[in-house]
Parts: sequence; structure tokens; C-alpha cells
Amino acid sequence: MEFRRKTFRCPNCGGEIPTGQFRAGKPLSCPMCSRQFQVSRTYANAVSWSSLGFTLLFFYLLGLRGVQLLIATVVMWLPMLLICIFIFDKLIPPRLELYYGDGSGLGLSEKD
Ligand SMILES: [Zn+2]
Repeated sequence: MEFRRKTFRCPNCGGEIPTGQFRAGKPLSCPMCSRQFQVSRTYANAVSWSSLGFTLLFFYLLGLRGVQLLIATVVMWLPMLLICIFIFDKLIPPRLELYYGDGSGLGLSEKD
């Protein structure tokens, strides 16, 4: 995921964090206080599941059922996700939380 914003506001010191190269799952460093942050996983999950729900509903309303519905949803999920990221970004700005690192180096160790 990619969030196209100019800056985030640092939750720790209130400084501005540039988001030029920012991608979800990678930490942002605050230039003022040197702390690392990431977009809240709850937020990222909410956007992902919403887009999946919208895609499913969209094709369901178009009359697709069963395997056709499944395939259409899988194919269109990503484009729909990008649209949802854009819309969510305007409506509910992403929340930053402290980045603790993941230990594995792959960012796959989610703890919910
Ligand atoms: Zn800061």
C-alpha cells in the first residue's frame, strides 16, 4: 500500500514527518525526535477488509454468483483497495503508532 500524503504529524513531538518514500509496513522516522512510527495495523486492516467487502458487494449487486463472483472479487480487489486507500485517506487520516520492529526482518510477525 502507498499513502500519498505530504507529511504526517509526529504523535510524539508534533514534528512533521515527510512521507516521500513511505510504504505501509515500513517504518517512518521522525526527523525531530528520531522515533520510528508505522501506520496503525488496525487502520490498514480496516481499509483492506472494507475494500474486499465493497468489491464483493459490487459484483454481487451486478448479479454475479458462485465462482464468477469469487474470481471477479479476487481480480478486482487490488484496484478497489487502491481506491479505498485514497478515499479513507481523505475521510479518516491514517493514525501513526510506534514502530517496534518485527524481529524477523520480513514484517510478517503480526501480533493481534
Ligand atoms: Zn517526533
